[in-house]
Amino acid sequence: MSQIDDLPPLREVLAAHDLDAKKALGQNFLLDLNLTQKIARTAGDLEGAHVIEVGPGPGGLTRAILSLGAEKLTVIERDERCLPALEEIASHYPGRLEIIGGDALKTDFAALAGDRPVRIISNLPYNVGTQLLVNWLLPRAWPPYWQSLTLMFQKEVAQRIVAEAGDNHYGRLGVLAGWRTQARIAFDVPPQAFTPPPKVTSSVVHLTPRAEPLPVAASALERVTQAAFGQRRKMLRQSLKSLGGEALLAKAGIDPTRRAETLSIAEFCELARNL
Ligand code: SAM
Repeated sequence: MSQIDDLPPLREVLAAHDLDAKKALGQNFLLDLNLTQKIARTAGDLEGAHVIEVGPGPGGLTRAILSLGAEKLTVIERDERCLPALEEIASHYPGRLEIIGGDALKTDFAALAGDRPVRIISNLPYNVGTQLLVNWLLPRAWPPYWQSLTLMFQKEVAQRIVAEAGDNHYGRLGVLAGWRTQARIAFDVPPQAFTPPPKVTSSVVHLTPRAEPLPVAASALERVTQAAFGQRRKMLRQSLKSLGGEALLAKAGIDPTRRAETLSIAEFCELARNL
């Protein structure tokens, strides 16, 4: 393993701070700093950037982001046991690491970003990952306060994020992500790269905002996709019944016998605009 800084190896950090992984907090740590650098590089050029990281844990990805030149890194960690280990990293990079102890689901990311777009990078806690992504995808203002999202998910969730019409994994998440961003799977990460290893393969997803997503209210798009994919095997005239059924489909010019998974993002937007 090549050296990226003069801090102790992560196994020593875990031992020194008694950081046994807690399942309830979705803790699967990455201890290989070459791998954490590969994830951080996927975000683009970090030289001079402001980055926000959710769930830094013992700090493997944190150290990679700082070693690649981020000018400012704000981390939000719920597990208080990790904070002393993070303080050690902060002393190594004076004035660059801001540590917030708290719950990312209750964090105002736009306020943290301030007036300069941030890059968000995270090996996400799996239990809150999808909810955080949806929050980042649906701010009222667009373009958003972030410049890119580089996030680890279970592979199956990653496939849902990048799915297009006709794919098996296409659903609400694919429509919301595809509407406002360009999303791609950068690479897969096998279970044994984590301590402890999760049951399934993970993937790093990279998302960048579209400059001009089709104009439609996010709340309307959410209602349509929820209803349509809530009964994904039914024809749309049935699954969209509570939202106007055949009449709504006629207004949007969509054949009522089609099923949700065949509709393009533009067609979902057309439905949402006619709600
Ligand atoms: N970034 C570290 C790494 O790559 O080794 C740890 C990743 S681990 C998958 C997820 C981290 O998120 C844990 O450190 C966990 O304590 C933290 N976490 C879990 N729920 C959180 C929440 N709601 N807000 C902030 N951090 C959370």
